[in-house]
Amino acid sequence: MTRALSAYIRPEIENTPFCPGCGHGTLMGTILRAIDDLGLDMDDMLFVSGIGCAGWISSPHFNADTLHTLHGRAIAFATGAKLVNPALKVMVIGGDGDLTSIGGNHLIHAARRDIDLTVVCANNMIYGMTGGQAASTTPLGCFSATTPAGNPYRPFDLCKLLDGAGARYVARFAITQPVELRESIKKALKIKGFTFVEAISPCPTQFGRRNQLDQASDMIHYLQQHCIPKETATGNEEPDMIITGEFVGA
Ligand code: SF4
Repeated sequence: MTRALSAYIRPEIENTPFCPGCGHGTLMGTILRAIDDLGLDMDDMLFVSGIGCAGWISSPHFNADTLHTLHGRAIAFATGAKLVNPALKVMVIGGDGDLTSIGGNHLIHAARRDIDLTVVCANNMIYGMTGGQAASTTPLGCFSATTPAGNPYRPFDLCKLLDGAGARYVARFAITQPVELRESIKKALKIKGFTFVEAISPCPTQFGRRNQLDQASDMIHYLQQHCIPKETATGNEEPDMIITGEFVGA
């Protein structure tokens, strides 16, 4: 980081609320390093989040203006803020349950309207903070609080969804790929219009312990073994493999 930590994190913050092994701390650091690399001024930015563990990444930690809003409604609030003050660099940070399940309609229509927002979706494949329920991203067959016999539904491929909705930049990387993830967030922030970065972020507490990935290290190993760069993917991968890369606007 080129600037002091206090330029990014509120001085009164001593700890994060994240569980041991949660990926959200890594994602928080990656977002701030991307902002630092670009030399953006936090005073020119607004961070908007909804409800869920990922909603805590920007609020209360970031030393900037933040809006911590209703469950699923972060993009609606961000759209309003951007319309009122177009000079703001507006970033939405939230989880998959918040942004793509409860707030899925806001997400696709903000992309369709090309609202000038950067959305970072921390996808942990489950509702974390609200109790471990299945989300629209929970893989087929995986266990959650609401799918004790295994999830019978296919998950969204968020990057394909946002591609179809017209986003100008779409990428997916896991927090086990911090360099690629950081560069991706930088690229998203530099593009005018709607940009979307999916960050696969492990949740050992709600997802891992129900899916034989009890230890924090188990989830890290899982991501390392299941992420495949799109350049080497054949299209015949098993459904549990995670294709990573830049899908639109590379
Ligand atoms: S419940 Fe899951 S997503 Fe939430 S802080 Fe704990 S590990 Fe992270």
